[in-house]
Amino acid sequence: MRTLIVFVVALLGSGGLRAQTPPAPLDWNAQRAEILDRYRALVRIDSTPGRETLVVNYLKQVLEAEGIPTQTLALDPARANLVARLKGNGAKRPLLILAHTDVVPVQREKWPVDPFAAEMKDGYIWGRGTKDDKPVLAANLMTMLLLKRRGVPLDRDVIFLAESAEEADTTGVGINFVVDRHFDAIDAEFAITEGGDATIDGSRVTRVSIGTAEKRPTRARLVATGTAGHGSVPRLDNPLLHLAAALDKLGRWQTPMRLNDTTRMYFDRLASLSSPERAAIYRTLLDPKATPAALDRAQTFLREQEPASYAMLRTSIVPTILKAGVGANVIPSEAEATLDIRALPGEDIERFYAQMTEIIGDPAVKVVPIPPSRPPSPASRIDTEMYRVLEQVAQRMYPGAAVMPGMSTGASDQAQLRAKGIQSYGIGPASTEADALNYPAHGDVERLAESSLYPFVQYVWTVVNEIAARR
Ligand SMILES: [Zn+2]
Repeated sequence: MRTLIVFVVALLGSGGLRAQTPPAPLDWNAQRAEILDRYRALVRIDSTPGRETLVVNYLKQVLEAEGIPTQTLALDPARANLVARLKGNGAKRPLLILAHTDVVPVQREKWPVDPFAAEMKDGYIWGRGTKDDKPVLAANLMTMLLLKRRGVPLDRDVIFLAESAEEADTTGVGINFVVDRHFDAIDAEFAITEGGDATIDGSRVTRVSIGTAEKRPTRARLVATGTAGHGSVPRLDNPLLHLAAALDKLGRWQTPMRLNDTTRMYFDRLASLSSPERAAIYRTLLDPKATPAALDRAQTFLREQEPASYAMLRTSIVPTILKAGVGANVIPSEAEATLDIRALPGEDIERFYAQMTEIIGDPAVKVVPIPPSRPPSPASRIDTEMYRVLEQVAQRMYPGAAVMPGMSTGASDQAQLRAKGIQSYGIGPASTEADALNYPAHGDVERLAESSLYPFVQYVWTVVNEIAARR
């Protein structure tokens, strides 16, 4: 008996047996102090654009101290990106967990606290980046450290990427540089990153949104031309009149409604959470037998009451800048408007511009496309192993919550990943509706409930384990 015990202990000690024995479940209470510490350390680094390497230095030191090698990829030395990889046995293609390191600038006079002190007050951690994107960065970092410490055997590599310049990449130093020049370092079957969220009502998470798609900014200028002349002589070809008429026509045009798998499931789940009146509106959108009149009523309601839902149904056109004229007594020869056009995944944008030209119906007004900053990106699929894991773990952690895919009307670095064939999904920590409204990402003041941080890290860890650990 005694020899047997010695034998088993020796085996355990050698590490040979440990690889086959599932490690004891993680004690999440015991992880809290470190999670909070690392998250606050990240928030305390002022990583407004141009300062991202400060975050890379921190991450590199933490990862390497635990024996995880890192690779720094930098086009601009002040705005470096960092990659780290835990090797799997290659049975499955890698998983990429990424987060951006930059935060948007602050107006200090708007803050009740120092925006880079990660102060804790009233149950919240306050500071720039507390929502966007340092919770994801901290969760990804903790996941790497815990996978390594626990020696979790992996069926696929887990790749950690901390990328710069997500908020404004005018010089291409962030995701564009990594994808164009170092794609081998991040190539993966699946990716998870910012782009989802969750809603808490009371103490219960009621809704979890997994980002599966986004629209593509495909802006254009509308240029009207005419004959310049004296302001005292009215002219029919005054370009301001032609531009105004064109904008009015585009403003009235209800661009074609088109649903995809994500928005279909989204409105279906939303209906199940909504009042009977709202549910009827969402179900009309989904009903292939809805009459044109009913469909029109539903869309008019959304256009007036829920512009964000309305925007999910179509490629949208929003005029944002007007330019014309040099003096009160001068008719200019040119007038132009900038249009913020957001295209649905799969939109044939050349055809859409041609439709716009037809709606405008005025040869004096031309649609001039502005070169797009992001590639076209197909929606990620909702029938993949990754989506199922994201959904199932959310349902287990938050029983009774509605888990739904979401399409962002904005744009993110997932576009570059999806364009390269990586099925990419957005996640995020939970907030109350009031908090999401009053202390949002990019808002004057940003904060995250401390009670949302720990479950979010646990969610990321559990998801990564279920998709990547050896089965
Ligand atoms: Zn962000």
